[in-house]
Amino acid sequence: MSEYNAPSKDIFFVLNELSALSEINALPGFEDATPDLIEAVIEEAARLANGVLSPLNQQGDETGAKVEDKKVIPVAGFADIYSAFVEGGWPALPFDPARGGQGLPELVACAANEIWQAANMSFALCPMLTEGAAVAVNIHASEKLKDIFLPKLISGEWTGTMNLTESQAGSELAAVKTKAEPREDHYLITGQKIFITWGDHDFTDNIVHLVLARLPDAPAGIKGISLFIVPKYLVNQDGSLGERNDVYPVSVEHKLGIHASPTCIMSYGDNGGAVGYLVGEPHSGIACMFTMMNHARLAVGVQGLSISERSYQQAREYAKERTQGHAIGQEGRVSIIHHADVRRMLMLMKSGIEAMRALCYVCAASLDFSHHAETDEIKAKHVARFALLTPVVKAWCTELGQELSSLGVQIHGGMGYVEETGAAQHFRDARITTIYEGTTGIQAMDLVGRKVIRDSGKSMQNLLEDMREIEGKISALDDKDIKTFEQRYSNGIDALENATKWLLENYQSDADAPGSVAVNFMMLMGTICGGWQMARAVLVAKDKISKGDDDPDFYQSKIISARFYGDHYLPRASAYLGSIVAGSESTMALDEAQF
Ligand SMILES: Cc1cc2nc3c(=O)[nH]c(=O)nc-3n(C[C@H](O)[C@H](O)[C@H](O)COP(=O)(O)OP(=O)(O)OC[C@H]3O[C@@H](n4cnc5c(N)ncnc54)[C@H](O)[C@@H]3O)c2cc1C
Repeated sequence: MSEYNAPSKDIFFVLNELSALSEINALPGFEDATPDLIEAVIEEAARLANGVLSPLNQQGDETGAKVEDKKVIPVAGFADIYSAFVEGGWPALPFDPARGGQGLPELVACAANEIWQAANMSFALCPMLTEGAAVAVNIHASEKLKDIFLPKLISGEWTGTMNLTESQAGSELAAVKTKAEPREDHYLITGQKIFITWGDHDFTDNIVHLVLARLPDAPAGIKGISLFIVPKYLVNQDGSLGERNDVYPVSVEHKLGIHASPTCIMSYGDNGGAVGYLVGEPHSGIACMFTMMNHARLAVGVQGLSISERSYQQAREYAKERTQGHAIGQEGRVSIIHHADVRRMLMLMKSGIEAMRALCYVCAASLDFSHHAETDEIKAKHVARFALLTPVVKAWCTELGQELSSLGVQIHGGMGYVEETGAAQHFRDARITTIYEGTTGIQAMDLVGRKVIRDSGKSMQNLLEDMREIEGKISALDDKDIKTFEQRYSNGIDALENATKWLLENYQSDADAPGSVAVNFMMLMGTICGGWQMARAVLVAKDKISKGDDDPDFYQSKIISARFYGDHYLPRASAYLGSIVAGSESTMALDEAQF
């Protein structure tokens, strides 16, 4: 199995040239985040990922986590990785220094997350959820709860989990049944949660579960759900650990991938009730949890990028080594990278990854601008942009991750299908990413319903204007090298504009239209957002080359990658548009009995 090497050069290209790192560094609150510091941070993250996290990835897959005596037994060696991770101060990266954080931009945390997830996705889920829990506690919990729990989550001394799902409540969280009974200064939680990632382990001496439950007087449905902190061990007034709380892992799931990440059934209150503390107002749990989920959605979108990169690195190496067949103009047998069809697959991986990376980072940058920009107007623009892009990053990058990790297997031929090479692990690990944190369908409906229809397409219009501005700049270059790309990019923006117009004109007359077209709409938008980022990369690359940059090969490869994206991804836009304007008629025409 090939090991992972963080693609630092590509990461710095996107950080510095496409996601406005220098502008973010100049924002209030980020004065200390100098370019030198950020370079050192990314290089150090790469060292830890390449040298410590990645080597345990395959072993984690082969061994898997298990439950014994109501305790999760993690894969051997994972506790040591976790210690190294905490000693490096990594959990604290994007948090406020006043709470023990390092005060670095979300953009930098996003780049670090790409690296962790590619090196060892099963492991990286643990700090990813802890970070999300810390964000939710920071925004919604009382000062008293923050004082107890936040510094420990930020330092990584304790980990955090997200407990939403129950057997009858998956996509439909309104069906949550777990109960919370008020007591003097706390609540008693009873119920069962399923599929809880890293629900238990022995890396830390406490775990902070964030749990959705219902108060006795709760209204039915989504407006009756509250959020609670339920620690594995109670915390005494002096901060020391007290009694074991009444929450235990019952079992872990046997599953397709991410074997080293324990996916737990968690039982609350088998012995009278688990002590919990209310976060935020009663019945406002979904809003609080959305803070955590939006955070996690961006992070899971990044997993789509990461697993594609990991799979690509392995496929690229194999394609250079494996000898098979003959190629035109070559003497003797050749390595398979000489075959045009293998090139096609590698280029789909390479250019798709570059587009995803830029889109993920630009989305993370919007999060920074939305919090730190100097005017309310810029903040508002980025609040809307982050909201619009988040479901696209989550769903498009993870769907593309399926395609690209499958190509990673295909490039290996039969050796991809057997476990020995490790290519199959990436394909299996990738599969969960379109399911958890809201399935692709749920993300696409969020995009269509809440982000496009609800504001009558205003945020989308702003985005289209930004895309058109880049189109104008590409056209102004008047460069025959990129004429075809320019044409396809322009057609793609037209397709997205037409799809948006069609949606806004038809959603009222055809109630099934939004649900029927949502995924194609999201895929269209992802594809064109990717084209937008590739167009921006072309502008940078052309500029660098014209100014005599000393690494012209690197920039030339960015232009070729964008041209390939124009030739092989952007033409998909017209197919997505064709499906969208077909509406719901044939999708909904069969009776249930006809299936
Ligand atoms: C490995 C793993 C880790 C997980 N980690 C966590 C965790 O840490 N915490 C946690 O709380 N949960 C976790 N989950 C749960 C995960 O978030 C859910 O599985 C996911 O949200 C989907 O819910 P479900 O499985 O009940 O599927 P369902 O909701 O039953 O969906 C089944 C299918 O129906 C579609 N569907 C459902 N409702 C609609 C609708 N209204 N309109 C259109 N289509 C619809 C879905 O898109 C999907 O294709 C995890 C799951 C797994 C497998």
